[in-house]
Amino acid sequence: MKLIFEHSIHGKACDILPSSDVPAVELPAKFARSSALNLPEVAEIDVSRHYTALSKRAHGVNCGFYPLGSCTMKYNPRIDEQIAALPQFTEIHPLAPREYTRGCDEAIALCKSLLCEITGMDAMTLQPAAGAHGEFMGLLLIKSYHTERKDFRRTKIIVPDSAHGTNPASAAMCGFTTVSIPSAPDGCVDIEALKSALSDEVAGLMLTNPNTVGLFDKQIIEITRLVHEAGGLVYYDGANLNAIMGVVRPGDMGFDVVHLNLHKTFATPHGGGGPGSGPVGCKAFLAPYLPDSVVRNPETKLQIRSFYGNFLVVIKALCYILTLGAEGIREAAQNAVLNANYLMHLLKDSFTPAYDTVCMHEFVLTLEDFKHETGVSALDVAKTMIDFGIHPPTMYFPLIVHEALMLEPTETESKETLEEAAKVLKRIYAMAHSEPETLKSAPHNAPIGRPDEVLAARQPVLKYGFENDR
Ligand SMILES: *Cc1c(COP(=O)(O)O)cnc(C)c1O
Repeated sequence: MKLIFEHSIHGKACDILPSSDVPAVELPAKFARSSALNLPEVAEIDVSRHYTALSKRAHGVNCGFYPLGSCTMKYNPRIDEQIAALPQFTEIHPLAPREYTRGCDEAIALCKSLLCEITGMDAMTLQPAAGAHGEFMGLLLIKSYHTERKDFRRTKIIVPDSAHGTNPASAAMCGFTTVSIPSAPDGCVDIEALKSALSDEVAGLMLTNPNTVGLFDKQIIEITRLVHEAGGLVYYDGANLNAIMGVVRPGDMGFDVVHLNLHKTFATPHGGGGPGSGPVGCKAFLAPYLPDSVVRNPETKLQIRSFYGNFLVVIKALCYILTLGAEGIREAAQNAVLNANYLMHLLKDSFTPAYDTVCMHEFVLTLEDFKHETGVSALDVAKTMIDFGIHPPTMYFPLIVHEALMLEPTETESKETLEEAAKVLKRIYAMAHSEPETLKSAPHNAPIGRPDEVLAARQPVLKYGFENDR
């Protein structure tokens, strides 16, 4: 397939704008480009065809099943998009006089209060643009708290070895050192390991519950109590909230700070890099450190992003919460858990669950023995799923499970879809025994087969080679 730049023909254009009726302004030389901008010159129809062709080569929730574990790739109701597209929301400027922004201010305040209610927190900021950004913000709250109390020794953040990679990365970005603790054989926090990691140098613990292997840690009250007793705070990675919303609240489990991923749990489509939203909530004693808009509060201590964050993503979340209501939110979580358990149950006699117990919204399979038996890896199985029109599950994560495939069906999939997916996976299981070579060279029907991953990592080509760059 050609790139848009390769369709370019000098002189073609697609602007149908009237010519300017105000005098052109000469830019000062220091702001002007020294060479022409490399923009493709194409007609409108070429642009339309190019992007339509590209979209047909991508798999999305609207194309088929997308059980990408930890990412909550659920279907997002159209009504949320329609409401967020209203001009009253899209055409407002963050610096507009207050009397024009009352409705938007109210929507923001309502969304904050609903998210506080769902998480059991007292205050919320909508500024962070994603989960990892929220982690950074939340850890800064923890840091501010210890700094304000002149407790400068607390430089360590405890993270379980099953944690998402962003957790230790965010801790490092905040200047903390991370202490990794091993998980117990049941996949949950090893209380003894936690106890021996705790000290007066620990600023806090980062945890997700249900955790990254899809299990709810039943010792959570004891865990948060131990950290508090040692003078630390507890951070809730809310990426897995889809499993528990409306049922239990991080605030009631003893967490002090949470981030949410509105683009996972609350109806914003994701993939392709944005825009997302990672609100951060906290208990009242941390609220003074929360950022607010620069406009409303110039004295703010932590400004993490401009203005109000990704406002339209917030509107989608608000619309989603209001349309589902308290009952619907709870039902969504319960169905997410039911669907994951049903799919795991259907697969159990072929593939091996890493933890053979009731799961939450996702589960992890280990293909270690399967690989010894057939020579077919988790990667081969994932690639073969593409040929059957299913997006591959998350692979090789969490790191504590070998040959891991992590499936999260979400609540928006029907019983029929889950049964069809199970049938496909069982067929792949049989193929691994009868024709392993087919799996090792999959996918066969996708636009791209198997890229050379080593070469791609060592010599990434991230930019189109324009002639005048060469
Ligand atoms: C997705 C995810 C994150 C990071 O969130 P982003 O919005 O992608 O930055 C953190 N922790 C877990 C467990 C996740 O699944």
